[in-house]
Amino acid sequence: MTQEQKVIRVAVIGSGPAGFYACEHLFKKEDYSFSIDMFDKLPTPHGLVRSGVAPDHQKIKSVTRVYDKIASNENFRFFGLVEYGKHITIDDLKKHYHIIIFATGAQTDRKMNIPGEDLKGSHTATEFVAWYNGHPDYRDYKFDLAREKVAIVGVGNVAVDVARILCRTQEELMETDIADYALEALKESRVREVYLLGRRGPAQAAFTNPEVRELGNLEDAHAITRIEEVELDEFTSELLEKEEDRSLVKKIEILNAYSEKIEFVKSKKLHIRFLVSPVEIIGDENGRVKAIKLVKNELYRAEDGSLRPRATDEYEELEAGLVFRSIGYQGVPLPDIPFHDKWGVIHNEKGRIIDPDSGEPVTGFYATGWIKRGPTGVIGTNKQDSGETVECIVEDIISGDLLSPENPDPDKILELISERQPNYFSYEDWLRLNEFELEKGKQQGRPRVKYTSIEEMLDAVKKGS
Ligand code: NAP
Repeated sequence: MTQEQKVIRVAVIGSGPAGFYACEHLFKKEDYSFSIDMFDKLPTPHGLVRSGVAPDHQKIKSVTRVYDKIASNENFRFFGLVEYGKHITIDDLKKHYHIIIFATGAQTDRKMNIPGEDLKGSHTATEFVAWYNGHPDYRDYKFDLAREKVAIVGVGNVAVDVARILCRTQEELMETDIADYALEALKESRVREVYLLGRRGPAQAAFTNPEVRELGNLEDAHAITRIEEVELDEFTSELLEKEEDRSLVKKIEILNAYSEKIEFVKSKKLHIRFLVSPVEIIGDENGRVKAIKLVKNELYRAEDGSLRPRATDEYEELEAGLVFRSIGYQGVPLPDIPFHDKWGVIHNEKGRIIDPDSGEPVTGFYATGWIKRGPTGVIGTNKQDSGETVECIVEDIISGDLLSPENPDPDKILELISERQPNYFSYEDWLRLNEFELEKGKQQGRPRVKYTSIEEMLDAVKKGS
């Protein structure tokens, strides 16, 4: 049998966009016959499309139709509720697959490393995001929404998502697939003022134009900036004189418009601040967040050419009873896989996992998505990223660099999984659960009502409702 005709068994760990795009690229390689098993520690697939994308961004979520199509390939199987390192180990994978791709994303947050970061009432934005999106591991988290003022550190798109959800009315939230318990908790919310805190200027803000424009169209919240903080810095002004950057000009226009004096008729205020860095989160006598101490920054050009913030000697204290740190996701190490601690990614070159001691690729092991390149880019960025990994895989197949599993028979791994995780979720199980969620949504006039506990999901599929 030639290399081209042989069925190549592939394991993909992680069922978010990067994992699915890797499958799509592999299935498109018509010279090869790939048979793929995808694993996820949750019963439900689609990673951050289900548990990260904001519930009021339903259109973005329709990308899952593409993943359903990929999953309908007869050479694809999904094993939900099967965790790498718990139900299957590296040795199991080596015994059953020629190729192993890690697409586990970035599952934790970066730390700010300032005093008070761990006070009660100081949370990571990703905890809040996972909570309102009904991620089973976060459904029991509690956020004190009785506080009037909330500070969100960072001005990326995740920070904007959190701010929007805090500012939306109940009617607006009813049109989303936000978790039931979050809808209830937000109904009782007393939050009135939300602060987004950027450490650099408006021109360096990580949020994108459609996202920041959307903040101006909230039903019951005003987006507000300070005229002196949205003034363009000298470096960027100089640059714009030489080069056209329409998108940046637009961003500044939008932010400037928010600084215009308006009559406050809406009940909430969403302040977008720039050139401030938190230096301390201040607690009350009960160890609860009561304020955040900020230092005013100025910009300077660093050696690498980028514009960086530098603290001045001007400080202010901002009252806030709740703080969300939204300064970027971070990858977590996986058992037996070489990890670059500083960068928070798997050691890799173009997706080939590299042994840091020898500097050589580890035969048969690959990475894609955020765990490969870090937590940047939108869903579609992962398509290109997975394409690069798959090109490396094909090159390696051609040169014969793939694993030689003892037991490539698909039934053998099925036996092992059934033994270790008898409750594993298949893609068919997910499609049924999906139908139940959509049906429940229809009854309430919402796009979907999510199951948020694993027991409920298993039960629903077993009982058929
Ligand atoms: P991000 O875009 O990297 O933004 C991180 C923010 O945190 C930046 O404003 C950054 O400022 C700030 N920051 C970092 N360290 C800080 C510190 N020590 N103190 C204060 N501020 C600090 O990350 P993200 O918002 O988590 O988003 C991750 C990716 O998902 C992004 O590519 C994003 O576009 C994407 N995403 C897209 C959507 C959408 O399309 N609607 C929604 C959500 C997420 P500096 O710039 O100064 O470093």
